[in-house]
Amino acid sequence: MEYSLGPFVPVADRVLVAVAEPEGVNVGVVVGSSGALLVDTGSSPDQGRAIRAAAEGVTGGVPLTHVVVTHAHDDHVGGLAAFGDLVTLGHEHLGRACAEGTPAVSRAFAMASAVNLGDCHVELAHFGRGHTDHDVVAVVPGRKVAFLGDLMETSAEPSAGPDSWPGEWGASLDWVAGMLPRDCVIVPGHGPALDMDGAGTQRGEMQWLHERAQSLYDAGKGAAGAWASDWPWPQEPAERFVAQAILRMREAGRPRRRPTLPLLGS
Ligand SMILES: [Zn+2]
Repeated sequence: MEYSLGPFVPVADRVLVAVAEPEGVNVGVVVGSSGALLVDTGSSPDQGRAIRAAAEGVTGGVPLTHVVVTHAHDDHVGGLAAFGDLVTLGHEHLGRACAEGTPAVSRAFAMASAVNLGDCHVELAHFGRGHTDHDVVAVVPGRKVAFLGDLMETSAEPSAGPDSWPGEWGASLDWVAGMLPRDCVIVPGHGPALDMDGAGTQRGEMQWLHERAQSLYDAGKGAAGAWASDWPWPQEPAERFVAQAILRMREAGRPRRRPTLPLLGS
């Protein structure tokens, strides 16, 4: 695999983002007056070392002191071994979801944590299940930037894998959105940054797909072949999201709604 790292580009005052290939993952740096924090670590220990060197080159001499991992997928946590001497943070369920051999973070939390970087602080919070059961969002209130990990993606549609919770994803995003200023810059896990309206659109698309999943579940149908050209996402990611949503409903033994026509109602 070809590993490479693009340049760190500012998205707000002393907040920079670089893209690490081959997965196109966004890696962020928040620079304060006394310390700097890295968001996500790339796909491998070697890439983590490359990211560390590049990040330390854009802090203006401020030491890199903290690292937060948004979730346990390889392209976000794979470089963690390069930061063993720093304070590393993640959700308390991160460790059990990581591949074997991944080092543990030094500071795990269930709901929220905060990092003081001198003239700014970064709030880290888990808003509920979504892309995984341990997604962490990193918000920099003073700079109006939020790193959402793979709760949002813009280079492709958000990815609903077997560890995703489509039915709870939207509510987690709503909680995040309610805490952010309207002019906040949203950095997704993959792809260009977006504004709050763009984030709201993506959240609405998820809601639409989840409603569709519910209808299919109620009708005893699956996701395969359900896609139509008026769906908001292309077939593959849309059917994957809907299939995972239906699977979670089945796992939970959710009762089927009986469709009724209002005109024929009791
Ligand atoms: Zn992911």
